[in-house]
Amino acid sequence: MADFMITDDFPKSEIEFDQRFSDPKACYDYLFNQKWPTGFVCKRCGHDRYWVSARNLYICTKCECHHSLIAGTIMDSSKKPITYWFKAMWWFTTRKSGVNAVNLKELLGFGSYGTAWTWLQKLRRCTIRDQREKLSGRVEVDEFFIGASRPGQRGRGAAGKTIVAVAVER
Ligand SMILES: [Zn+2]
Repeated sequence: MADFMITDDFPKSEIEFDQRFSDPKACYDYLFNQKWPTGFVCKRCGHDRYWVSARNLYICTKCECHHSLIAGTIMDSSKKPITYWFKAMWWFTTRKSGVNAVNLKELLGFGSYGTAWTWLQKLRRCTIRDQREKLSGRVEVDEFFIGASRPGQRGRGAAGKTIVAVAVER
C-alpha cells in the first residue's frame, strides 16, 4: 500500500469538502493528480496522450492500454457513485467522535445496514499498513470511542463502547 500523506490542499471543513467533491469528475480529477502529478504517462509505452472512456478508463492514444484510477482500491467494482466513496472516506478520516455503520448508513442514505457495514470494514482495512514498524521521533497519542450514543455514563467506561487508541508520528 502506498504511503498516504495529508497534503496542503486537504479540505479544511465539511463545506469545503462538499463544494469541491460534489460531482464524479472532481473526484476522478483528484485521483488523476495523485496518480500522475506531472500529467498522464502510459505505463506500457510512456506516451502522454489519452482519452477517457464512458466507464472512466484512461486510454493511451498510442497503444490503447487501459488505465484505471480505482483498480485495486476499495472503490473498485462498486456500483455506487465515486462521490459516495469520497464522502465516506472524508467522514471516516475526519470524524473524531466515533464511527459506526449506522452513522454511515444515515450519512449516505443507504437502504441497507449491511452495505454500510461492508463499506466500514473496507475503510478500516485501509488504515492498516502492510509493513508496520514502531513509531519513532515525536509521537502523539489520543483516544476515542466507537459505538452509537446511548443514555448513561459518558466518556471513559461508558457501556457498549469500544475505546480506540491512536498514535501518530509527527
Ligand atoms: Zn501507451
